[in-house]
Amino acid sequence: MTTPITYELIKTDKQTGARLGRVHTPHGSFDTPTFMPVGTLATVKTMSPEDLQAMDAKIILSNTYHLWLRPGEDIIREAGGLHKFMNWDGAILTDSGGFQVFSLSDMREIKEEGVHFRNHLNGDKLFLSPEKAMQIQNALGSDIMMAFDECPPFPATYDYMKSSVERTSRWAERCLEAHQRKDVQGLFGIIQGGEYEELRKLSARDLVSLDFPGYAIGGLSVGEPKDVMNRVLEFTTPLMPSNKPRYLMGVGSPDSLIDGAIRGIDMFDCVLPTRIARNGTCMTSNGRLVVRNAKYARDFGPIDENCDCHVCKNYTRAYIRHLIKCNETFGFRLTTYHNLHFLLKLMEQVRQAIREDRLGDFKEEFFERYGLNQPDAKNF
Ligand SMILES: [Zn+2]
Repeated sequence: MTTPITYELIKTDKQTGARLGRVHTPHGSFDTPTFMPVGTLATVKTMSPEDLQAMDAKIILSNTYHLWLRPGEDIIREAGGLHKFMNWDGAILTDSGGFQVFSLSDMREIKEEGVHFRNHLNGDKLFLSPEKAMQIQNALGSDIMMAFDECPPFPATYDYMKSSVERTSRWAERCLEAHQRKDVQGLFGIIQGGEYEELRKLSARDLVSLDFPGYAIGGLSVGEPKDVMNRVLEFTTPLMPSNKPRYLMGVGSPDSLIDGAIRGIDMFDCVLPTRIARNGTCMTSNGRLVVRNAKYARDFGPIDENCDCHVCKNYTRAYIRHLIKCNETFGFRLTTYHNLHFLLKLMEQVRQAIREDRLGDFKEEFFERYGLNQPDAKNF
């Protein structure tokens, strides 16, 4: 089957086995490992597409569930698709809506045909199925679509997880059948199975047999300890085809990006950098910095003296703190820009380290500087 999404493996890091690659899409190519900023409602909160271009973002993620509810996929189709609607000419990945159904709605009923649940905005009854998730994503016109899956919480029992994995495989087949625009949109399968090696194997075997152009690992970053995530990645990535992109869903802390790349992951997304930015928290080369803290009231230095983003070149901690304390949108804009720039730059550094066969050393240096080698280190 020809696919609009292809992956080129450029080299692997001799120290860790991490992959340097390139993914080609109908809206341009991007180098991997990469981080995808999240634009839930067809906007990365407070960022313009011009900002995203300036920080060299090549692909962003948007949410099927949220766009289905508002403004509705028909309006976006009429606009000429999501790229035109939001004026973003780079690549777009849309999730399937499954994760939001399971995380935002507490009134839900999972059946073979799909999931019945209540709209988190007004309580209306809704139904999402593999066919519906494909129809919405076809209308949105994203470059990469995700199969509709169930993302069980952590922990889940082995028996529950097994029946869930089997259903997710059946849903994946239905997604492939329902997908109407295979020449211009690529559909990725999602490997589930929680922390159970046997179930990850089962899920990978089922999905790989369906020959998707790319694969994601779902069901991680849902509250499990970090060593569980790393262990699951260690036994799951070898089950994934080496000639297709591998995407770890919902992961965006600097340490997890590096640890994921080391275990063979190519793509990541997370709301973490943008969400904590709006709370006045910044990621810096020396660790986390809560710029809203009183101690920065008279600090006229940049957020991060080692950052070359336009925020750090032009604005001070004192000014940004003042804006955020006053709930000024511009303050959120500045911290969001810096955090996204920081993570995109971090991924460029990871790619450079792979080129030079030194990702293991890079990790050591980064973790030390970021304060992640302390026993009580925070995840970000
Ligand atoms: Zn900066």
